[in-house]
Amino acid sequence: MKSFLNTSSDGKVMIDRVFKAAVAAKEDEIKSGDIVVNATLGTLFDEEQNFVAFKSVWNAFKDIEDTQKAKYASSIQGNVEYRESIYRWLFSSIDEKMKAEVIATPGGAGAISSTLKNMLDPGEIAIKPSLGWGPYKTMAAEFGIKLLDYNMFKDDVFDIQSFIDVTTKVMQEQGKVLVIINDPCHNPTGYTLTSDEWDQVIKHANTLSENGPFIIINDIAYIDFNMQGNDWKKHFKKFNHLAENVMAIIAFSTSKTLTAYGARAGAQVVITKNEDRLNDFKNAAIYSARSIWSTVSNGAMSLFAKVESDENVYKEYIKEKQYYVNLLKERSDIFLKEAKENSLEIYPYKEGFFITIKVEDNNYKETVYNRLMENHIYTVMVDGGLRVALCSVPKRKLLGLAKKIKDCM
Ligand code: PLP
Repeated sequence: MKSFLNTSSDGKVMIDRVFKAAVAAKEDEIKSGDIVVNATLGTLFDEEQNFVAFKSVWNAFKDIEDTQKAKYASSIQGNVEYRESIYRWLFSSIDEKMKAEVIATPGGAGAISSTLKNMLDPGEIAIKPSLGWGPYKTMAAEFGIKLLDYNMFKDDVFDIQSFIDVTTKVMQEQGKVLVIINDPCHNPTGYTLTSDEWDQVIKHANTLSENGPFIIINDIAYIDFNMQGNDWKKHFKKFNHLAENVMAIIAFSTSKTLTAYGARAGAQVVITKNEDRLNDFKNAAIYSARSIWSTVSNGAMSLFAKVESDENVYKEYIKEKQYYVNLLKERSDIFLKEAKENSLEIYPYKEGFFITIKVEDNNYKETVYNRLMENHIYTVMVDGGLRVALCSVPKRKLLGLAKKIKDCM
């Protein structure tokens, strides 16, 4: 019998591993109480295990007029103030003008998804890190795009050789490269590339782009939780030195930045030297927006613009956010120290929401995952290991956790 669904949608089922693990943890919490360690959730929780919604942000939301929240956005590309605020948020520490266009999207997911859709044809290959955010796969599958991985680490640093080899192979085969780099504060490992590693990435992109277009999606979902703060953003200056045939699309999100996960505001921030091609990208992105989600939430865009441009709100926000950046550091210090003492192998962590325990064999990974659950410890299975969400586990529950995990291995 002919299906109601078309051939590309028939049989698709979304299995969300994080959600599944989180539900299991919640059920156990009801039964077993405080002994449960729920390290599944990728959102910030405080030391009392309360969900964090920044007061500086959400009090400012109350000051926005109801009519403003209720209205449609003033442009499909995103409100002008929102776009200008994003530009300043990312580039104000840079002493040169960045030739960039900003297109509002529903979160970082919208930015990445729309970019994949518009840059590659079905059947073409996108390149992603071997350890990475699960929805990259879902998005690629949605558009019939194939995936190839570059190996993320060699000797505990970014495997630049694999990056070079895989992108070169794909350029040879399809005359075009699209590669995702989730940096800083990579999900799920917490790695951040060094300035030198980024220089090597850009040098290679510039050289390889002599053979075809080279597109870099820089997924910066966790940027505002890096330890250097706004100083890290100086790094974007490097994108001013891309060759003519290279394009960078920064996928920005207010989800983590403002603790505004449900507000669904983000952006594609596209940078390339050639004005016409910059415009072509913008036009295609606006077209996709209108045909899929139409406009981004007016209230969420107004909120971001307010946090960025109101001096008092911004000051409060920075203070409040810094408290959590410091807290993440304290939590990671506990876990890293004890992981070392207990010879628990983890991927190189520098900063951010997550640490991942190295378990390469998939069957063994599932065994450990299940053993941990029997011991009331809930993690998330990711490619190459088990993710521990430092963002949601209080310090008192991180103490001794590395040993308990090691004992299950
Ligand atoms: N990229 C990574 C690596 C993420 O972990 C997330 C969210 O979890 C996102 C992008 C996008 O998030 P959102 O669509 O909520 O902005």
